[in-house]
Amino acid sequence: MTAVIVMTHRGLGLGRQLAERLAGALYTRSPVETQGGQPFSAAKELLPRLFAAGEPMVVLASTGLVVRLLAPLLADKQSEPPVVVVAEDGSSAIPLLGGHHGANDLARQIAGSLGGHAAITTAGDLAFGVALDDPPQGWSLANPDDAGPAMHALLNGAGATFEEPIPWLHGVPLATSAAHAIALTASTARQHGSPRRLVYHPQRLALGIGCERDAPAADAIAAADRLLEDTGIAPASIAVVVSLDLKADEAAVHAVAAHFNRPARFFSARRLNQEAPRLANPSETVFREVGCFGVAEGAALAAVGKAGKLVQPKHISGQFTLALAEAPDVLDASNIGRARGKLSIVGIGPGTPAMRSPEVSRVLAAAEDWVGYSLYLDLAGDGPAVRHPYGLGDEEVRTAHALRLAGEGRDVALVCSGDAGIYAMASLAFELLDRYANTPEWDGARRAEIEVLPGITAMQAASAKAGAMLGHDFCAISLSDLMTPWEAIRRRIKAAAAGDFVVAFYNPVSQRRRRQFGEAREILLANRPSETPVVLASNLGRPEEQVRHMTLGQVSADDIDMLTVVLVGSSQTRRVGPWAYTPRGYGDKYNLGQESKA
Ligand code: SAH
Repeated sequence: MTAVIVMTHRGLGLGRQLAERLAGALYTRSPVETQGGQPFSAAKELLPRLFAAGEPMVVLASTGLVVRLLAPLLADKQSEPPVVVVAEDGSSAIPLLGGHHGANDLARQIAGSLGGHAAITTAGDLAFGVALDDPPQGWSLANPDDAGPAMHALLNGAGATFEEPIPWLHGVPLATSAAHAIALTASTARQHGSPRRLVYHPQRLALGIGCERDAPAADAIAAADRLLEDTGIAPASIAVVVSLDLKADEAAVHAVAAHFNRPARFFSARRLNQEAPRLANPSETVFREVGCFGVAEGAALAAVGKAGKLVQPKHISGQFTLALAEAPDVLDASNIGRARGKLSIVGIGPGTPAMRSPEVSRVLAAAEDWVGYSLYLDLAGDGPAVRHPYGLGDEEVRTAHALRLAGEGRDVALVCSGDAGIYAMASLAFELLDRYANTPEWDGARRAEIEVLPGITAMQAASAKAGAMLGHDFCAISLSDLMTPWEAIRRRIKAAAAGDFVVAFYNPVSQRRRRQFGEAREILLANRPSETPVVLASNLGRPEEQVRHMTLGQVSADDIDMLTVVLVGSSQTRRVGPWAYTPRGYGDKYNLGQESKA
């Protein structure tokens, strides 16, 4: 994620705007404060840390400052992140480092959106409008180390020769004499280049793969590597790894795609059957098993389209079948078949983005769809995703919808407040998968990738705001009897009372349900004093946030609403100044202070 770093109050407005436009993370130097920004105190600590972590950076500071801070770290331009310095008034964007690794593009994008100037200084961009070592999407340079000398020659009178035209290099002047020629070659074959010959691999090939269920990933990678070696094809020429949709959750297929750093895409058996007339090796056996006459060949052909052709027919290697097809032009994998869907079940924390994990923020920014209770989608903030808002009660419907979308190949975030696994949708998603384990309509959802990302749950935020209420053993109890019989809930409250646990009550009341809280209070009062500290935390992390301290003797259902989490201390919980905390042990008995308790 691009880091946007703001040093002074003057730069804040611009920094915010850039962070939003670039879907980046905003850092502000104290005392500049902003909602959602991450504060830092010293640029000399932050910049080197982000640079070492490989984070692209946009810094609203002087070039001198940034040069001084980063110069000692410069080592390898191929792997270092791009750094752009932007004037606080937006007038210039300077690609300081990594011009051909994103900084020029970033500077142009920033300047374009601000009406400012991008201070591009890389020679090739200025002379010919291209960067020889930064080919566009779909192309890669086999010998990047030779790009510098080649560009140097071109800038000093040499010209280019082409075996076949390379559209994006049309600005480079042609050679007038063979002695001063630099060959610019497009080839899918493995070739060695030289400073006089740059080899560009266009991503024109689709690698089709079929395999037995749970075939080992390492074998798949070895088989694919061997096939490319035998055929003399450069791995960088592969655009996409393709298979049948039944294989969307097949680890070996994804491992091969990851090995070549390319996406995996999938086709239905019906789509693959349209390729039947073009198959070199149609198989009745395969048809009986999966409903199409060839997976590897069919998928490779489907990926390259009608103008493409099979260049390596079905090759059997152990448990795998592999095939290669080539298109006349560079392929865009995002238009080929469909991706394996992904469902990220995320907890966005209680409210403010500052209490959200960077991982969740990243997933939200990347997802195509957001599904969730409408209030939570509002809390999640802005983003390009398609929103699927639901009412408070539609939990099963919204979870099923999120799974269905992921089953259709989409990248979906199911948005929960707090933690996704605590009285939220994560367990419901698994319950549904369990319940419909044998229902064919759920095949797609079953094959989707699922991840659950944790968040700060209400009781953690409440405990922290109040001091350290959860400092010793605690439990959480939901007072909602919608899905749990009240008798079972009562039994747990009694056990918590007997065990002297700190108790966090979720869903303490609802509009119709108010009696349970009183009863829970009575049960606890039987085992702990009426002075026991109680914390009522409402709307945590939201503008209406309220944290109140009371005692168990005082509190009643009238003090709370459904946006409150109630923390009841144990018999040991006490107050100091404005804080409430539960000690980590029984101080006197265990000689607090004489042994390390870190
Ligand atoms: N998954 C959520 C809990 C959802 S259950 C989490 O981990 O926090 C809903 C209950 O959670 C509410 O009735 C309330 O008791 C508590 N809660 C959720 N968000 C809250 C917030 N921002 N402030 C206070 N309580 C909250």
